[in-house]
Amino acid sequence: MDALGIDIGGTKIASGVYDDKHHLIQEWHVPTPRTAVAIDQQLVASYERAKQISSIAAIGISAAGNVRADRRTMSFSANIPAWIDYPLAEKLEIAIDHECSVIVENDANSAGWGEFVCGAGKDSRNMVMLTVGTGLGAAFVLDRHLYRGSFGMAAEVGHFPMVPDGRFCGCGLSGCAEKYVSGPALEQFAQASVRRDPVAGKRLISMAAGNVTAISGQMIFEAATDGDPVAIEAFSWVGQWLGRTMAAISALLDPDLFVIGGGLSATGDILLEPARRSYARYLQAAQYRPHAGIVTASAGWQAGMLGVADLAMREITQR
Ligand SMILES: [Zn+2]
Repeated sequence: MDALGIDIGGTKIASGVYDDKHHLIQEWHVPTPRTAVAIDQQLVASYERAKQISSIAAIGISAAGNVRADRRTMSFSANIPAWIDYPLAEKLEIAIDHECSVIVENDANSAGWGEFVCGAGKDSRNMVMLTVGTGLGAAFVLDRHLYRGSFGMAAEVGHFPMVPDGRFCGCGLSGCAEKYVSGPALEQFAQASVRRDPVAGKRLISMAAGNVTAISGQMIFEAATDGDPVAIEAFSWVGQWLGRTMAAISALLDPDLFVIGGGLSATGDILLEPARRSYARYLQAAQYRPHAGIVTASAGWQAGMLGVADLAMREITQR
């Protein structure tokens, strides 16, 4: 019996059929439609295609946004306006005549679970995954179970209040962690440095053809891997905040491992070394306790698809 994992991303929908050993049998991608109805149709098409090659016992859907505790309903998504209390799993089950059951999971939880079952978190008992990209996503695996909270809203580390009266966040609050730990935070820091000292920042200025506001995360990444001091300093600044965030999480959850994924983690130690130093500095009783490991994610692009396929399979085998 196989499982179908479907990862609804901002630009593409990735589908993968997995056997019970987590081997990927087949995968394919289509562009993400803009409307909820068109996405529903695409999910049905994905199942029909999977059915041609395998006997599918369960379907897992990973999507950005808030998923209700029932693991079936999107309560809110910034990307798809119609996804307010939207019964995504039920709609698919009805469309496929209840041939198999469907679960929905938040994208960060799906990717975190993928890292736990098949990636960097395999040997961990209490693992926290942090995804540093456009925002700051997170997943908590506690005692080898995905921790979802009472209302499905756990692990929203991106909106953890790190700085009282800090930077304004799109969520309506201020000082949220992702205003300091994310791609946009990296860009903001680098652009401010370059404006302050254009001579030191000449490499980034020339990469952006003189337009400082066009300095992108990708440019900073390339400059940092080439040893550019301003770009490295920007990563150190984000890394320092990442470390503080992890120290705060350790005070709450005491994990044994942090797995860092997302676009910014591709620089490896350029981000993680300052993060480790800052983690050690802000960790309570740091000298008298074991420190959690801090490593980069290893399951790659398919972590979310694989993770949600595995969660869907567990859901039916535990019934
Ligand atoms: Zn926020």
